[in-house]
Amino acid sequence: MPSTTALLGDPRLSEASTRLGRPIVKAAVTTAQQAVRDGRIGPGDAVHAALAALPTLAAGLTPVHNATGVVLHTNLGRAPLSRSALEAMTAAGGYTDVELDLSTGRRAPRGRSAMAALREAVPAAEAVHVVNNGAAALALAAVTLAPGREILLSRGEFVEIGDGFRIPELLASCGARIREVGTTNRTRIGDYADAVGPDTGLILKVHPSNFTVSGFTRGVDPGELASLGLPVVVDIGSGLLAPDPALPDEPDAATALRAGATLVTASGDKLLGGPQAGLVLGRAAVVERMRRHPLARALRVDKFTLAALEATLRGPEPPVHAALHMPLPQLRTRTLRLAEDAARRGLDAHVVSCEAVVGGGGAPGIALPSCALSLPENLAGPLRTGEPAVLGRVVRGRLLLDLRCVPQECDSDILAAVLRAAEH
Ligand SMILES: *Cc1c(COP(=O)(O)O)cnc(C)c1O
Repeated sequence: MPSTTALLGDPRLSEASTRLGRPIVKAAVTTAQQAVRDGRIGPGDAVHAALAALPTLAAGLTPVHNATGVVLHTNLGRAPLSRSALEAMTAAGGYTDVELDLSTGRRAPRGRSAMAALREAVPAAEAVHVVNNGAAALALAAVTLAPGREILLSRGEFVEIGDGFRIPELLASCGARIREVGTTNRTRIGDYADAVGPDTGLILKVHPSNFTVSGFTRGVDPGELASLGLPVVVDIGSGLLAPDPALPDEPDAATALRAGATLVTASGDKLLGGPQAGLVLGRAAVVERMRRHPLARALRVDKFTLAALEATLRGPEPPVHAALHMPLPQLRTRTLRLAEDAARRGLDAHVVSCEAVVGGGGAPGIALPSCALSLPENLAGPLRTGEPAVLGRVVRGRLLLDLRCVPQECDSDILAAVLRAAEH
């Protein structure tokens, strides 16, 4: 049995120790020694077995090819970042001037260039602030504008955002009281006006971003709400900064602010296609009060978020935008090529039409006409657990791989993964 010391002394394993850290390499060595002990491999193969058992990264998150056709997949971390956002994060990983003006050598406002990028992207916002996520943005608005006071919220906008978290409960946990207004399907401006009292802190409008109510419905837009003379906070959810014709029912920050909203809150990692973040846009005096609230420090974003957000705003088209606007003929051509290659190798593969969705808290009623590579269902497991991991969806006994969210340069990786999975 090769000793642990001898194995760790092997040049390749010792190099891995400097890259991944000694405990990870030691665990791989232990795995290899066990294989020798069990007689599965010979003593001479221990180094190879240990190298094979090494993870690629020192972190446990496994990269996944998202072939589900769900653009913002909550369980896959929502928005994938653009290359320029990833490069900005890498650059921010070292020492960086996040709170220092290099020309004067003095302290400077944290993340000022990211804030400038956000303000430039939404000229209708007098001021902006960024916190940890959309829920944090809403919480900061509630503790700043309505501590111990009432928040008016339509009964049609009592939203559970996911994993059992509910917006009204979030607001209540911030010390505000929710005053229910209107009904599930219809709420009028008069309902709000009747509910206003000396204790009203703000009027909240929450976008029902993961469900639709259709039929006999009515809501009140931010402009009308502003006429009541109280702060109006609009939680648009998805982080669309300006209208997108492809998503006609999705509210956007610029429109809400121009209509008279005091404040808009949104997520950075939904339709904006950036890092997880909570965007706060609106009237300068209110944003400044939020920025100076003691809780703001607890919701502060790190330098990686600031770097990725700015690069998303200023840089090339983010992958989420590209996936949402991908021309169907282009998608079909890519899928057809894979289907032909797979069929030529003897696989039961063909192209089917299907629908993709935005997912993850955006455009709930919208189905995107799409297409997919249809494969035998039994490939789903091996593809999911393979390397690279490929996640599709199973529909009526077939595994569908929708390439919409797969970068085109990865098509050959998908084909190789499919062929490997079929060998099992
Ligand atoms: C997604 C969403 C949130 C929560 O945002 P996170 O960034 O997940 O914290 C809040 N409100 C609405 C309307 C949403 O769609």
